[in-house]
Amino acid sequence: MHSYSLVAPAKINLYLEIIGDRPDGFHELVMILQSIELADRIDIKPSDTQDIYIYCTHPQVPTDESNLAYRAAKLMCDTFPDLYANYGGVNIKIKKNIPVAAGLAGGSSNAAAVLVGINLMWELGLTQPELQDLAAKLGSDIPFCISGGTAIATGRGEKLDALKDLDNMWLILAKYDNTSVSTPWAYKTYRQKYGQSYISDRAGIKSRTAELHSSPIVSSIAQKNIEEIGKLLSNDLEKVVLPEYPQVAELKSAFAKQNVLGTMMSGSGPTVFALCESESKAIAVKQQVRNQITDPQLNFWVTRLSSNGIQIDDSTS
Ligand code: ATP
Repeated sequence: MHSYSLVAPAKINLYLEIIGDRPDGFHELVMILQSIELADRIDIKPSDTQDIYIYCTHPQVPTDESNLAYRAAKLMCDTFPDLYANYGGVNIKIKKNIPVAAGLAGGSSNAAAVLVGINLMWELGLTQPELQDLAAKLGSDIPFCISGGTAIATGRGEKLDALKDLDNMWLILAKYDNTSVSTPWAYKTYRQKYGQSYISDRAGIKSRTAELHSSPIVSSIAQKNIEEIGKLLSNDLEKVVLPEYPQVAELKSAFAKQNVLGTMMSGSGPTVFALCESESKAIAVKQQVRNQITDPQLNFWVTRLSSNGIQIDDSTS
């Protein structure tokens, strides 16, 4: 049996709108998700035992059954018990580059890589849609992490419609090391504050979902109009996260003053990103904001949009 090394990219949200509650307790969302080049690396090897073993040295990443990569491997073992009995367990090594609990779907991307990796290792031959159906059982962002690129995500975030690839933009990500936002807290607080304005009927939810497909930001993505995309960024969760975390709000204001294409918090935060037309502009903006906010806890990453989901890492072969 082969071992595999996979590249597991992070994602940002270009758009996140909460439209209502779902009978399953989750929120009904309309989002535009975008892969970026900042990525973790996942090595998957067969084990001599029946155990699933996670190796990761990042202090914030659990190595027990709560790790999303572990849960993905367990799902594959439970779904294909004969292959699991035959081939044994899996060793999974995670090299973390994506900041943790940052609104960048790092854990989801790791889980997506494990599903793809075990599909290859056990020569299951599952198609991408089949893998995405399995992924939806584990978490809302995981189906997107498998295919990546640019996509509209609806339902809990698991129903995907691919959009034209947007790989002509650079971005700076910024996150305070000592700040993390709990995704469940952000959604719960949003429900408490804005739940009375939720669309409650199925027909209303369906029509709002359909509207996004012909909305201005989707048109500007189709035209690759990067100035318009920057102006149309939107994230409902900013309404609850920014007042609670003034440092994050200040960071966003600092980017906004730099004549970037657009700036926004990603997902439930606290990472803030700023879109730029070139790498040199992104590096210059990063330096300007660094000069203004000298807090050593603030970290920056310059990266670019990507059209890739989970890929085999051939850089080491
Ligand atoms: P999302 O936006 O999908 O909620 P996130 O990007 O905000 O996710 P993650 O980096 O996925 O956040 O981490 C969220 C929590 O999940 C962390 O507190 C971490 O302890 C836990 N976790 C479990 N598995 C992983 C993993 N493989 N990588 C990172 N965090 C993990």
